[in-house]
Amino acid sequence: MDLTLTSPVQYVLRVGPSMAGKLRNLGINTVYDLLTYIPFRYDDYSLISPISRVQPGEVVTVMGTLASIKTFITKSGKRLVTAKLTDSSGSIDIVWFNQQYLVKILKPGDTLSVSGKVDWFGPKIVFSSPVYEVIRTDADGKASLHTGRLVPVYAETAGLSSKWLRGRIDYVLEQCLRLVVDTLPDEIIQREHLLDIQTAIQTVHFPKTLEEITRARERLAFQELFMLLLHAYEQKHIWQTTLKSRPLNLTVSDLELFKKHLPFTLTADQQGAVAEILSDLAKPIPMNRLLEGDVGSGKTVVAAAAIFTAFQSNLSSILMAPTQILAQQHYQTLSMILEPHGIHIELVIGGAKNTVSTTKQKDTAPRVLVGTHALLSSKALPKKIGLIIIDEQQRFGVDQRAQLRKLTHTTFTPHQLTMTATPIPRTLAQTVFGNLDLSTLHSMPSGRKLVKTWVTPQTKRTAAYAWIDKELTASDSQAFIVCPLIDDSESLTTVKAANSEYLHLKNDVFPKRSVGLLHGRMKADDKTKVLEDFRRHVYDILVTTPVVEVGIDIPNATIMVIEAAERFGLSQLHQLRGRVGRSSKVSYCLLFTEATAPDILARLKAMETTHDGPTLAELDLTLRGPGELWGTRQHGVPGLTLARLTDTGLVSRARSCVTSIVSRDPDLTLFPHLREMLDQSKIETIKD
Ligand code: ADP
Ligand code: MG
Repeated sequence: MDLTLTSPVQYVLRVGPSMAGKLRNLGINTVYDLLTYIPFRYDDYSLISPISRVQPGEVVTVMGTLASIKTFITKSGKRLVTAKLTDSSGSIDIVWFNQQYLVKILKPGDTLSVSGKVDWFGPKIVFSSPVYEVIRTDADGKASLHTGRLVPVYAETAGLSSKWLRGRIDYVLEQCLRLVVDTLPDEIIQREHLLDIQTAIQTVHFPKTLEEITRARERLAFQELFMLLLHAYEQKHIWQTTLKSRPLNLTVSDLELFKKHLPFTLTADQQGAVAEILSDLAKPIPMNRLLEGDVGSGKTVVAAAAIFTAFQSNLSSILMAPTQILAQQHYQTLSMILEPHGIHIELVIGGAKNTVSTTKQKDTAPRVLVGTHALLSSKALPKKIGLIIIDEQQRFGVDQRAQLRKLTHTTFTPHQLTMTATPIPRTLAQTVFGNLDLSTLHSMPSGRKLVKTWVTPQTKRTAAYAWIDKELTASDSQAFIVCPLIDDSESLTTVKAANSEYLHLKNDVFPKRSVGLLHGRMKADDKTKVLEDFRRHVYDILVTTPVVEVGIDIPNATIMVIEAAERFGLSQLHQLRGRVGRSSKVSYCLLFTEATAPDILARLKAMETTHDGPTLAELDLTLRGPGELWGTRQHGVPGLTLARLTDTGLVSRARSCVTSIVSRDPDLTLFPHLREMLDQSKIETIKD
């Protein structure tokens, strides 16, 4: 049977069921997967030297005849294989450690190509555990794979070596590379001076020069970005051409009325976002907008304007938040803003007993429901929903998103507003969230001060506690102390856990102060009570886990202590820091760490000088990869292996190519390969 690109990898010569199982661990299922399994680095063994010329310290390749090979046991009992390799210029010794089997494989007289580092071994110059390759005398003139060249190195798994992969990849390249069809249209390949796909795949595995590697990877990365952007475009296109919504209008005088009842004036950014949203809502195509704004930038009031608009058009709204605490807070804020207009908010955070409905309403009156995912399964949802607002959507699970889709894809799709405090770098927003329109709140409401931030090493802990105690009295304020874990861990003995730290702080460190405890495993009612008590200043100090990360608004808190800060991404630290600095008082953030490694400290130090979320997010993106942005659930941007979103040049080239194609041919009828790839693509935008 001839191999095709979709053949199971098991049928590749010398793979078989057992190796196929191991390949599966690397995500390789088909011949195509194997072809496109990209090396993560290359060993440069391209320098071929006569044996007499090799120098200690060099990485070189030599070729010669194996003169002898034998096992050898050192005085200390170590087993070595020693060999001697000879060419016309001289001979050199080779030592392999722990590779006894080599005496069975390599025979005197074999022609051997050997690559690796040459070094002193006692008084002699030897090759130490080099890579080797037997050059068969009946060779058909093929270049060597493992030596004497730039050699690809692949991520390995147990029982499956890079060397073995190299052999199998070389084989499928020979058998199947010609079957790979170029996804990118010719015109783009020409215009962007890209390698064709077959050359790119061949070269990325077996490049002749370093420059070739760059070219090959550029081509493959370009394609990834192109497909990601095209996918986002397609999502948007489908949304706009297949969905209908009821247009919602707000009169100028109603808007004025809304603003008049606010306890503050909107910032310019808030005004801008409201205007963008009102313009979306007025259309018969459902809004699909992402409202991005740093913690404390005031997104809730923008959401309230949208809810107000729906209400005036006699339609209901629902706002869904990822946690009960946040739902409750939204409930309070929205009540404060909307009650003056006679709009009652209902809170849905669990069973019926938790549903708060302030008044009995007529069936026909529009409603405003705020809650957790409990909203989705609620049987008492309003009939005519005009607007759905989702706070921190990336925190919802797959099931909840599916339920939400069911709710939204009705005859009239509700307008949709997603809010996030996760600072999303621009490139990321435009690619991964390319299907959404974007509104950003850059500036903070006036009167906010930067949170003074210090990385605090273990040696200063005692002094820091004393300072906190003094500061709490001086400014009559409150402090958060965030611990990464709830309970003590056996493996992470230096990482503070909220439960035990709470007792320690309460009894030993701050015996005169009232200390509260909050963590995710507490009952919902207890959590709410603790937060309410903290808000009412029943506690001076709240020991907590990162459940306070998002959105908690307690303006009187001015100190944020984060334990084991090195365990958090910069974006997450920034979110936590955003819990303070929410009033006109000066606020502080202390990043406690026992880490001493310079790179870890440097990363944390960035918090001292950098106060804007997007910059920290970019830093996270370069230092720790995009997984950080979605918490632990997502480890990278789906669909991207080679491409980096930080490569803004390549991103913008790919974007302009997508635009040039879809502006002429939105359904891709002229580009059947693209069409097919897109339909098969496993890319899943985070938005889906
Ligand atoms: P986030 O964007 O983090 O959700 P919130 O909507 O919770 O921020 O707003 C944070 C705080 O700022 C709230 O107490 C809110 O009342 C207040 N706020 C919002 N907008 C303004 C404004 N324009 N001027 C003053 N305070 C504002
Ligand atoms: Mg919020």
